[in-house]
Amino acid sequence: MEFPPDQSNGTEPGERRRVGLVYDERMCKHSTPKGEIHPENPDRIRSIWNKLTSAGIHQRCVIFDAKEVEDKYIAAVHTNNHINLIKTISSEKMASKRNRVAARYNSIHFNEGSSESAYLAAGSVLEAAEKVAKGELNSAFAIVRPPGHHAEESEPMGFCLFNNVAIATSFLLNQKKLGINKILIVDWDVHHGNGTQKMFWKDSRVLVFSVHRHENGSFYPTGDDGSHIMIGEGPGAGYNINVPWENDQCGDADYIAVWDHILIPVAREFNPDIIIISAGFDAALGDPLGGCCVTPHGYSVMLKKLMKFSGGKIIMALEGGYNLNSLANSVVACIEVLLDDKPIAESVEGYPFESTWRVIKAVREELSAFWPVLVDKSPEELQVKCSDSVPKIINAKEVTATSQRGKIISDTLTLSESLDRLTELRIRFQKSLMQIKSEIHVTEDRIHRVKDSMIKTAYAISEQGQQLEQIRSAVKTLTQTRSSRGCEK
Ligand SMILES: [Zn+2]
Repeated sequence: MEFPPDQSNGTEPGERRRVGLVYDERMCKHSTPKGEIHPENPDRIRSIWNKLTSAGIHQRCVIFDAKEVEDKYIAAVHTNNHINLIKTISSEKMASKRNRVAARYNSIHFNEGSSESAYLAAGSVLEAAEKVAKGELNSAFAIVRPPGHHAEESEPMGFCLFNNVAIATSFLLNQKKLGINKILIVDWDVHHGNGTQKMFWKDSRVLVFSVHRHENGSFYPTGDDGSHIMIGEGPGAGYNINVPWENDQCGDADYIAVWDHILIPVAREFNPDIIIISAGFDAALGDPLGGCCVTPHGYSVMLKKLMKFSGGKIIMALEGGYNLNSLANSVVACIEVLLDDKPIAESVEGYPFESTWRVIKAVREELSAFWPVLVDKSPEELQVKCSDSVPKIINAKEVTATSQRGKIISDTLTLSESLDRLTELRIRFQKSLMQIKSEIHVTEDRIHRVKDSMIKTAYAISEQGQQLEQIRSAVKTLTQTRSSRGCEK
């Protein structure tokens, strides 16, 4: 059995880990111009926060306020033109041009809240990173939006305005007194982190690892940037690792196989001072954009394996994730791991795809010159080595069965969500029915009372009519008597 350089989680025995959480409702201000339906919407971070508070998890964490990032820290990774664009795009002056400007970019929308949200998202990740680097916190999770990993040096892209993780990474490296010299960025969002890759392309202080759907460059953000041959350049050669999936439906077993045979051995050699995770959850089961099958348990195993490095100093920054249930459940699972106060099983169910072994082999071959621990092994050797953690898969039938199993799990989740919605609707319907019945009862009561009062009035009118008749008759008698007396005179 191999041991990583640092097995401690950053605390003394019996001491509780200090896990920071940052969430700010002001990051909900960024939205589509007229609130049109969009997967990257404010409900994403609200659903996470609601889940954490209803489960009482926030009480076990250290909550801190979001702060807007200063321009000088953004300038380490973005151009001044880009900073000015994001700073001014929400101003009154830009209102008439805003949609036209957004249309110039790839998958970008702006509204009057975009600037503030973008500055807060980048500032929150930076603040979280600083607190962890200083040792005020052991770990932190920044529940932020808009996300960041697609944003490039001079353009927003793919729902991302500022590259939050890259800004925080540069900040840590530039603050010499923090003593952070080597940073591992793990990007497990289902999309390639193209922006982050470019920003640290020639930098050996930052090891950028991204696992993503690629499918020969046909999956967003498309093109060759996410290919496994993109390994960095100059001093940064070997410090950019891409694991490009050939197909959808990848799940826990595929990710853990990549962790065990690429990321963890390299992380052990790199020995980072701190880890920043571009934590997108769009590879989660049931995500409408990702089409993959990672469960909350899968994410917790991936994170648990990373906790063994850098004394457990990990900052997680939210990227994608568009199925609100899967997103919130996965974040909760990760925060439970960061808190490290209950044991989790480090094994997962299922088998990797055959294509996963092919990708692992290709990545190891590409990078073995830089990381001797990855020196090529034949697929058989690789699979035998893997067999203690994940059984090997070598025939098409098993691949199909695994794919079908993934689909069944995904369908089951969808069905269970529909059932939850139906139950909620039934409860709402019953409540409305009870309310309607009670209103009918009150109305019937009123009608009875009005009817009673009308009957009483009718009796009173009839009585008064009779009295009037009697008075008339008496007056008539009196008149006749008077007139007969007059005749007698
Ligand atoms: Zn994504």
